[in-house]
Amino acid sequence: MGDPPANPIQTTRLAPSPTGALHLGNARTFIVNWALARQSGWRIVLRIEDLDSPRVKPGVIEQTIDILAWLGLDWDEGPIIQSEDLAAYSQAMERLAERSLVFPCDLTRSEIEAAASAPQQGVHETRFPPSLRPTHRPESFEPRSSGWRFVVDPADIAFEDRLLGIQTSDPSQTVGDFVVWTKRGEPAYQLAVVVDDALQGVTQIVRGDDLLDSTARQILLRRALQLAPEPTYTHLSMVVGEDGRRLAKRHGDTRLTHYRTLGAPPEKIVGLIGSWCGMGPLASMSAQEFLRRFKLHKMPQEQVVFRPGDEQWILAN
Ligand code: GLU
Repeated sequence: MGDPPANPIQTTRLAPSPTGALHLGNARTFIVNWALARQSGWRIVLRIEDLDSPRVKPGVIEQTIDILAWLGLDWDEGPIIQSEDLAAYSQAMERLAERSLVFPCDLTRSEIEAAASAPQQGVHETRFPPSLRPTHRPESFEPRSSGWRFVVDPADIAFEDRLLGIQTSDPSQTVGDFVVWTKRGEPAYQLAVVVDDALQGVTQIVRGDDLLDSTARQILLRRALQLAPEPTYTHLSMVVGEDGRRLAKRHGDTRLTHYRTLGAPPEKIVGLIGSWCGMGPLASMSAQEFLRRFKLHKMPQEQVVFRPGDEQWILAN
């Protein structure tokens, strides 16, 4: 056997959740991810994350794929639809169970809160305290019995984000033992993403910084499943409304399908996103032109603000 190649091919993924149509904030993440990949020669996998989310309405998966193509993005593999094959996730659960790292748990949020020693201000996820963790844990995984949680012991987990630098956190202090298999009998997001990234050979993860605090959990799962090497992470700041809150329905209809129906060309959407990525004043541009001009170090570090004038520009002839 020869030496491994000096520069093994890098792989990234576009991983939309088909929970509703893509809005401008999601679109920014996908275009940046795509441009980074195409500039650097990474392989792109399109993965539809239809697990662990509200019921996916018929046609939304097709609509999500169609709107990415409309923007001018392309990919090398997929779409891979998570829900089509659950075998790899169950196998991962079996491996974790063999090592006594998971346990069934049907406690409700209020039962967990009642057991937690002090209420946590401003934290939207309830920390699962170690006192609720069973000492005897089954050594095999039974998918239908209940939800399952992963054992989190105290430890600082560090990784280097390409934009944000070294990030350190201890998930035992923030979330505690977290859910890896839902009560509905499906892999939870944290497990699904780790198993898929490993299966699909993903080495570059580019996503919104709303997922920054999930990364330490995913690193713990990767290590427990002995999946190497760890990918490189790039977390992008989110698009917010003028009220400083993350772009959502309250800011009006910013779904790409909405603008498309009103006759806006994709070059307007890409142009707005270009101006949000440090490319200067608003100007229409194709995805190819975005790709030529994009520079990661020119991306603003602070949150990007969507203003009513942006929408008027998108819709103006
Ligand atoms: N499906 C997630 C989203 O649309 C992305 C998950 C990830 O990149 O890890 O926000």
